[in-house]
Amino acid sequence: MRDLSVRRHHPSRRAFLFTSTGACGALALWSLRPPGIASAASIPGMVTIIQFGANGKKTGKVVVPKVVKSDAEWRQLLSPISYEVTRQAGTERAYSGDSLNIHDRGLFRCICCDIAVFSSETKFDSGTGWPSFWQPIARENVAEATDRSLGMERTAVSCRQCDAHLGHVFTDGPPPTGLRYCMNSAAMRFVKLA
Ligand SMILES: [Zn+2]
Repeated sequence: MRDLSVRRHHPSRRAFLFTSTGACGALALWSLRPPGIASAASIPGMVTIIQFGANGKKTGKVVVPKVVKSDAEWRQLLSPISYEVTRQAGTERAYSGDSLNIHDRGLFRCICCDIAVFSSETKFDSGTGWPSFWQPIARENVAEATDRSLGMERTAVSCRQCDAHLGHVFTDGPPPTGLRYCMNSAAMRFVKLA
């Protein structure tokens, strides 16, 4: 048996989710979102993203080709847990990620393609065991889509540039947005501000 800290499509996974204090629970907000932004496009082509520099500041809007690799390539490039989360839509075990207790100022970049997806500015302690944010660093840099896996209806959040699964978003977050982006540490790389 592989020593991975995530398991997909396994009966105990569901039990785990429902007993983890509603952590990445079943609250869906897909129906509240306007049409047009609710699809995680997987069409190869170009995407518009916002770039951020080492000082955390926006450097501009750019149109870039999507990052597309084969499953074998991703498997080779990523650690087992990062592969499982980002390319297989897995979820790391609560309290297992190294981003959880990061309180430095910096950017959280997609582990697969390195675009900035979240900032420490919007990180908060949700008490769930997963790094949580009240908004992405730029709406352009993430995609959201309805996820009906595991017998629940949730909104999955992925990287706009490479389609990496990052986590889910729920409507029980703090002000000013009321949103809780419940992310996986394994999907991101933290870069301290220069
Ligand atoms: Zn990415």
